[in-house]
Amino acid sequence: MTKRAIAHKNSVSKSPVIKKSVAKSPVPKSPVTKKSVANSPVPKSPVRRGKGPEGQGSGGAEGQRKTPVAKTPVPKSSVGKISLRKKSVLKKSASNAETPKNQKRQHFRGAKSSHDQPKIQPRPLPQTKYENNIPLLGLSLSQLTEWVQQQDQPAYRGKQLHQWIYQQGAKTLEDITVFPKQWRENHQDVAIGRSQILHRSVALDQTVKYLLQLADGQIIETVGIPTQKRLTVCVSSQVGCPMACDFCATGKGGFTRNLAVHEIVDQVLTVQEDFGRRVSHVVFMGMGEPLLNTENVLAAVRCLNQDVGIGQRHLTISTVGVRDRLSQLAQYQGQFTLAVSLHAANQALREKLIPSAKHFPLDQLMAECREYVNITGRRLSIEYILLAGLNDAHAHAIELANLLRGFQCHVNLIPYNPVKEADYKRPTPQEIQAFIDGLQQRHIAVSVRYSRGLEADAACGQLRASRS
Ligand code: SAH
Repeated sequence: MTKRAIAHKNSVSKSPVIKKSVAKSPVPKSPVTKKSVANSPVPKSPVRRGKGPEGQGSGGAEGQRKTPVAKTPVPKSSVGKISLRKKSVLKKSASNAETPKNQKRQHFRGAKSSHDQPKIQPRPLPQTKYENNIPLLGLSLSQLTEWVQQQDQPAYRGKQLHQWIYQQGAKTLEDITVFPKQWRENHQDVAIGRSQILHRSVALDQTVKYLLQLADGQIIETVGIPTQKRLTVCVSSQVGCPMACDFCATGKGGFTRNLAVHEIVDQVLTVQEDFGRRVSHVVFMGMGEPLLNTENVLAAVRCLNQDVGIGQRHLTISTVGVRDRLSQLAQYQGQFTLAVSLHAANQALREKLIPSAKHFPLDQLMAECREYVNITGRRLSIEYILLAGLNDAHAHAIELANLLRGFQCHVNLIPYNPVKEADYKRPTPQEIQAFIDGLQQRHIAVSVRYSRGLEADAACGQLRASRS
């Protein structure tokens, strides 16, 4: 019989892209702020500063080729086996996770002086909530230690459990052979919280799209984007998406529910095990709107950073904008990157493309963005999908440059990826270049991101949880 006095509760995304930098703008040094974890103790891990720029994988060619997609059968997941064999590859310790130290805030261009900065104490990233009969994935080392002790095991078992869940890919407690056999048998009802791979499609650029089945039968999509140096995972934060952006396949399918913390973290572990290689970057650009599931997304960010061992600066949260949520997010003063999907620099056009923009007008969104930059000192990424004849004219580039003047940001242009349910077109390379020139002439830092995985329907905006 299981004595699970504590367990955790998790309540109630487009895709990865390669980045082709067209402008080199100085990246401001971001302040590193103190992170103390209140409420529940989190083990102190050695500090490692994240290297390199955040965000998506880089390199590769534009993905509009018509190329066949190799559909590979999914091997029955032999619990723990893959991960155990690949143990050495995955060995890098979670204790290497970036845990920002208390450092002095540095000034950045366009920001208020530190004198004017609002006096906001950084909040610790939330931990997964304890509650009965909720999976163990998502819990921190101290929470797992507390739990094993409640299950009549010595404290050192907590560390073993943590290691087996996050580094060795245990799918059930039964897999954890260092635990006593009788104890494992008595705890068969305790779930770790891993999904099943229902299907995987591999694009010619080796981007892999996964259909994952969750415990309640719901299906989500996750994308793994490898380059030589990086393995980026594009994770979903919801089943479906309520934002209904007109150019996006996910929004066309409606919304079902938020993902729990373990369901977000599981996507990263699944891709890591399937590739047999450590995940270096995670982008919340799959199905769903992360800021409608803020608490679980931030708890997943904490877990990916501290338990899985991915530097916070290698994590990107992308949002189309939800009222008051950017301000709320700023309180954490996290080191992750925030990407705002703008897509239009005037309210009328933005409303046409993004219905939810009616309830959160552009001027208010920009005000929250400014506040976010002022509080966190982090440069914002601005995502701008390029739709031929709609938002890609020279006048639009000027309008965008005017809106962003003096603002601490980098614009990522995403040429539209075709979606069955929408009738938009991607601009020509010449039109894209003209838009870039318009921004650069006005000193706006800009990159073009060509989505990868187009042939596997794994590119930005193409995720719809179907076997296409
Ligand atoms: N809801 C969040 C995260 C998911 S969308 C957001 O909107 O940011 C991730 C990115 O993919 C967004 O910038 C989104 O606008 C972009 N995207 C959606 N559909 C697309 C399409 N058909 N072609 C190219 N990019 C698309």
